[in-house]
Amino acid sequence: MVSRTIPVEDFDLVIFGATGDLARRKIVPGLYRRFVAGQMPASAQIIGAARTRQDESAFRADMRGAIAEFVGRDEDEAQLDAFLATLRYVPIDARGTDGWPELSAHMRPGVVHAFYFSVAPSLFGDIAERLASHGIADADSRIVVEKPFGRDLVTARALNATLAQHFAENQIYRIDHYLGKETVQNLMAVRFANILFEPLWNAQYVDHVQITVAETVGVGGRGEYYDHSGAIRDMVQNHMMQLLCLIAMEPPYHFDPDAVRDEKLKVIRALEPLDADDIVRGQYQDGPDGPGYLQDVENPLSRTESFVALKAHIANWRWTGTPFYLRTGKRLRARTSEIVITFREPPHSIFDDGGTPKANQMVIKLQPNEGMNMTVMIKEPGPGGMRLVQVPLDMSFADALGSNGTDMPDAYERLIMDVIRGNQTLFMRGDELEAAWAWTDPIIAAWDAGTRLPEPYDPGSSGPEEALRLLHRDNRRWREIRA
Ligand code: NAP
Repeated sequence: MVSRTIPVEDFDLVIFGATGDLARRKIVPGLYRRFVAGQMPASAQIIGAARTRQDESAFRADMRGAIAEFVGRDEDEAQLDAFLATLRYVPIDARGTDGWPELSAHMRPGVVHAFYFSVAPSLFGDIAERLASHGIADADSRIVVEKPFGRDLVTARALNATLAQHFAENQIYRIDHYLGKETVQNLMAVRFANILFEPLWNAQYVDHVQITVAETVGVGGRGEYYDHSGAIRDMVQNHMMQLLCLIAMEPPYHFDPDAVRDEKLKVIRALEPLDADDIVRGQYQDGPDGPGYLQDVENPLSRTESFVALKAHIANWRWTGTPFYLRTGKRLRARTSEIVITFREPPHSIFDDGGTPKANQMVIKLQPNEGMNMTVMIKEPGPGGMRLVQVPLDMSFADALGSNGTDMPDAYERLIMDVIRGNQTLFMRGDELEAAWAWTDPIIAAWDAGTRLPEPYDPGSSGPEEALRLLHRDNRRWREIRA
């Protein structure tokens, strides 16, 4: 199966923070791939903006280097030159007055105008205000903002209010790159375009759900930022919450941005406050491959978690009785992101000698390789009588779509194209984000008010023992962390 590429409308995309890590690693390489795929029109403009004083040719040379580093070195030179010709650069200090008229002069009438705020959130207000006061953005323009969107409900509300002074909600695209993953969208297709799963998708048939986002790396160079954040703010409040919503939400009446986001919001609002016994925090210790968390963040007294596991309950008709276990951490055994839906066991086994049927599992893998996998019970082949065996039914999307996976757009590519198309379905709405903070705030506040230290865990392990006990005490076990 060959996937179709439908070109987007002509656009001017301004990247504030164009000299930064995100622009170099994801945004510009992603746009380049869309250009090569024929989705980005050759007439479109990408306008870099940052304080660094450089001319257009220096910016293009830097982006050539970024593409070589993050896309590949064997690129077609003519195509690369054609892409680089779409780049412009304007030196701008978000807090200053210079550069804005030059930026305004670059913007062409009659094309889509999008502004990517790839800068610290403390600059969002300055940029929004200047875009408005210089008449660069209008009611049809779109802005894209990155996480972290606040560090609690109060700061998230303040950020929303700041942006709302100049932009309507339907102009604001809050990126959560997890939502741009092929498999995450396939989760919606599988649930809502097949009759097979939806009748079983409830507490009567689903025993429990596990969501794991495991990393092998430590906090690296982000120590200071991370120590003020921790795993709950960095992963649970945003990415994992979004995954939980997509699994748990009711079918929207239509695949339309607000219909989908209304249903996700209902899930977040139905989350019960977390019981203190239902959460485990951990910190990685030092090991043969490197120092422990406290050394990494250079804060020997830090109580910030580099690992968290928790058990959440959704109090509604569909899910009461089905726990959702979430787990994420750094320096774990393998790098993997997956969702595991474990169904209940059949109520009665008719196979006396062949063994007890095991619960079916559906594993939705987001990384490293996207795909879905179901386990089913079958008869073991051969003449040995009716013996049962559990086998996987594999579905790797790369295989199903007839590619080796390299043609699959990266999450950022897809999301930026959605911004140009004006489709907000895969972006978080302000009220969704605030509801997620409203749920995580008390969890963080209760921890901050206590004196307990995070549980230590060995690098390369599955996290602290207590996290294993969180499931053992419910007679369940985590799926092994493996790539
Ligand atoms: P970064 O590498 O520190 O880059 C920051 C960018 O902002 C630079 O281009 C810098 O350029 C520009 N900048 C700083 N102050 C400015 C000012 N006063 N006026 C105009 N430009 C200014 O940060 P990043 O990693 O690219 O991250 C950008 C945003 O995305 C942050 O909010 C971050 O939390 C978020 N994010 C990043 C990642 C990632 O993988 N990197 C992932 C998720 C979210 P000059 O110094 O030239 O001005």
